[in-house]
Amino acid sequence: MTHPIPNLENHFSNLGDKFSTAVQATAIANPHWVIRNASLAKDLHLDLFGQQADSFLAAFSGAQALPSSQPLAMVYAGHQFGHYVSQLGDGRGLLLGEIATTKGRFDLHLKGAGPTPYSRMGDGRAVLRSSIREYLAGEALHALGIASTRSLCLTSGELSVWREQQEPAAMLVRVAKSHIRFGSFEYFHHTQQYPQVKQLADFCIEHYYPALANQAADQRYANFFEQVIERTALMIAQWQACGFAHGVMNTDNMSIIGDTFDFGPFGFLDDYDAGFICNHSDHTGRYAFDAQPSIGLWNLHALGQALSSLISEEQIKIGLNHYQPYIIASYSAQMRAKLGWLEAHDEDQTLVSELLQLMQGSKADFCHTFRQLSTVATDDRQHPLRDSFINRDGFDQWLTRYQQRLKKETRTDTERQSAMHAVNPKYILRNYLAQQAISQAEQGDYTELERLATVLSQPFAEQTQYEDYAKPPPDWGKRISVSCSS
Ligand code: AMP
Ligand code: MG
Repeated sequence: MTHPIPNLENHFSNLGDKFSTAVQATAIANPHWVIRNASLAKDLHLDLFGQQADSFLAAFSGAQALPSSQPLAMVYAGHQFGHYVSQLGDGRGLLLGEIATTKGRFDLHLKGAGPTPYSRMGDGRAVLRSSIREYLAGEALHALGIASTRSLCLTSGELSVWREQQEPAAMLVRVAKSHIRFGSFEYFHHTQQYPQVKQLADFCIEHYYPALANQAADQRYANFFEQVIERTALMIAQWQACGFAHGVMNTDNMSIIGDTFDFGPFGFLDDYDAGFICNHSDHTGRYAFDAQPSIGLWNLHALGQALSSLISEEQIKIGLNHYQPYIIASYSAQMRAKLGWLEAHDEDQTLVSELLQLMQGSKADFCHTFRQLSTVATDDRQHPLRDSFINRDGFDQWLTRYQQRLKKETRTDTERQSAMHAVNPKYILRNYLAQQAISQAEQGDYTELERLATVLSQPFAEQTQYEDYAKPPPDWGKRISVSCSS
């Protein structure tokens, strides 16, 4: 079905010029589609494949803005690796406008759209390599049920840019309910623009937390902060439970609605290593996998400070005190589901941490181990998974206790196994899979990228024709640490 080109709304732009700068995109010459997300395009009623395809290609490669679009670069600041940077802002991305759908209003954001007043020393561009990674990651997390920005399409054309070498450039259309970051609040707070802090908070409440709108002012902003804390805690608990490392949890990469946001050198765990550092530039492990929950709290402290003209110190403290119990409860619930437990029992936490220790000792594949546990029957004497462990006896002993624990539950093996299959993915975005799709794409062949996107859109399904995509990486593809350059 074809749809006319929709009118974009521009609520954020209406906040005024303290919040953003109007900028037109700089086109990529001779553009073509790299990939289009048919299902998201359908949800948004965007006719990317039919009569309007050329207009969208022109818009999403920066040549000709959509009618009614008022492209703008948002201003923000942020703590990068713990250090405050007083002004950042969209240096290479533009908010094109908002699109109203039956599922609410969504921002369309064009990343890699050329220089803006916030580009600092950068060229305003994004390389194809990192754009593909972001495209795949947003959709992969979404399919796993984890809040994330989505990916509508990628375009490329006659443009290469210099990173460590010449690389093809691309533009990504990112879709999210919000592009407001913790760092957006930090910018206004640290420049003492307190009316703008309030204006931004009111905007967030109106558009993303409308249930708070009618609360008394002395509670409304504190509750806003608490809800951001809850969403952030839930998101990070889900990352921990699926083995996702974000890699650059700077406060400018933290979404005010708790979406996984701004993908850089992220990584999904292959073999389990609690201290996995996916970011090549993260020498101290600030953003290591197991540091993410505490960094989440650190970032929320920074947000609390940025909201201190609206909420009292006491309210900030109360909010922050909720973070730890909330993330622990969320994580425990996720791990219970992964292990097939409906009830909560005293020994659960010990069983989980002993399993993770065994996995760490044997470098067992994170995704594969949990998926395989879904096939355990309560009266199995042994399970083939033992062969993935160096300490086989240790695994056998753990398995016996796990089976005893399972017997406290009322579900049959079959019921439990299918529930476990629905929460333990078979397919994740392994770095080496992304790398294969990127290498082909850099030669102009996007078939592998399409295939991988298709596989990852159903991470829990048995896709028999794609068995290979569920395999742990070959030696060359293990522990790829990704460069920050993008
Ligand atoms: P990121 O590491 O992608 O989260 O970006 C951090 C900041 O640097 C943001 O303000 C970006 O807009 C900016 N930035 C990153 N890469 C570029 C680039 N190639 N050109 C201009 N600005 C950039
Ligand atoms: Mg960023």
